[in-house]
Amino acid sequence: MKYDLIVIGSGPGGYIAAIRAAQLGSKVAIIEKYSTLGGTCLNVGCIPSKALLDSSHHYYDAVHHFEEHGISVEKPSFDFGKMIARKANVVETTTGGIKYLMDKNNIEVYEGLGSFEDATHVKITKNDGSEETIEATNIIIATGSKPSSLPFITLDKERIITSTEALKLPEVPKHLLVIGGGVIGLELGSVFKRLGAEVTVIEYAPTITPTMDKDVSKELTKVLKKQGMKINASHGVTAVERKGDEVVVTATNKKGEEVTFTGDYCLVAVGRRPYTEGLALENAGVKVTERGMVEVNDHLQTNVSNIYAIGDVVRGAMLAHKAEEEGVVVAEYLAGQKPHIDYNLIPGIVYTWPEVAAVGKTEDELKEAKVDYKVGKFSMRALGRSRASGDLDGFVKVLADKNTDEILGVHMVGARVADLIMEAAVAMEYRASAEDLARICHGHPTYSEAVKEAAKAAWDGQPLNA
Ligand code: FAD
Repeated sequence: MKYDLIVIGSGPGGYIAAIRAAQLGSKVAIIEKYSTLGGTCLNVGCIPSKALLDSSHHYYDAVHHFEEHGISVEKPSFDFGKMIARKANVVETTTGGIKYLMDKNNIEVYEGLGSFEDATHVKITKNDGSEETIEATNIIIATGSKPSSLPFITLDKERIITSTEALKLPEVPKHLLVIGGGVIGLELGSVFKRLGAEVTVIEYAPTITPTMDKDVSKELTKVLKKQGMKINASHGVTAVERKGDEVVVTATNKKGEEVTFTGDYCLVAVGRRPYTEGLALENAGVKVTERGMVEVNDHLQTNVSNIYAIGDVVRGAMLAHKAEEEGVVVAEYLAGQKPHIDYNLIPGIVYTWPEVAAVGKTEDELKEAKVDYKVGKFSMRALGRSRASGDLDGFVKVLADKNTDEILGVHMVGARVADLIMEAAVAMEYRASAEDLARICHGHPTYSEAVKEAAKAAWDGQPLNA
């Protein structure tokens, strides 16, 4: 079979690229080695983690917050098996939706491992061992990533686990050790903390969420500690050992002392690595970097001119929405359009509670770039909406250029800020000033009023409600 485009991998990058190319008139095939479509994000990433975060949030509220709203329930309890089953159901419905979209857009789906025979032919090795080769003018590599580990850790996938196993544990851990205080570690740590586990986070960097704005990391540390999570920053893990049903993690703290942590499960959440195994890139002559990423230019084109790569397998943030944007960009570029991504405006979100969200530059980045900036900050606590719901933690922080007032970065901690951040992204896409944002009428009472107030604080230093 000959296609205009073959997409290898059906994650958010791959399936969106396939749909956009089909919308623009191409004959498209997509190859996925697993029996369900949707990749990491839908099967073992974004969607199942949010399903468990939502379920555990309901339980946590029932235990800790119903009473203050005047609601009494007999001692709340949960059925973990049911929670996991609900999560599986959410995943099944969502991945089924992708199959529907493939059919609707006349995209041919091949199940099996895709590997290059040359720059235009891809062999599909199916689960029953049979093989089929298909051909295309252009090919997109969208094979994503896998959890990475540390060289001295043996992942037994039973007690020493990655996020994939954490999403389907047979029980709630008594004491979960989390190596890595980044997004995945903190989200999954939150799930189990809310369900009653003791959770200890061990992070190498001096703060959790080390790439985010320092104020955000500080506030998040404060609220997670208040929820009972133990956070050990500046701890370099040196050994992880399974001892029966226990796991012992050894680390060196910043004073150089050796410390040990003992739990019944250890989640290794130290990042993800690009995944190209089995692709036989060498047959097509596609280059990868030393760190295993597929090398691409500004058009996401590899060194082989008809082969492109997108999403987690290339440089940049490992996020579903970044992969999707890249999928659209390649499909439109192949159709002769001139698409563009502003990588500065890809929002970063952590689905703890309160949530964390950011777009644009951090204060440290502005300092490093020697930009003259000003800061406006507004506390969630001062909002009527926050008092009504009881979600008092957090703030919105707006960074703007001192001379032009252009918004350069927005950082938030608070209820529903995962959704709120898009207001900042839209404003920044249109290169709004802090004054522009401050002068927009915001609904009352909403959490979004904190954005208006922080923008006003950045613009003229005079928030109205503080
Ligand atoms: P993937 O989604 O990894 O998809 C790649 C696909 O290619 C896979 O299905 C794989 O089986 C297939 N494949 C690989 N090799 C071959 C081959 N040779 N032949 C055929 N098929 C192949 N991101 C967010 O933006 N928001 C979140 O809330 C979020 N939460 C996350 C939570 C967790 C626990 C994890 C692990 C990740 C989370 N992510 C989140 C990250 C997100 O899942 C990834 O950034 C995203 O899935 C990357 O998309 P992709 O299309 O590049 O690759």
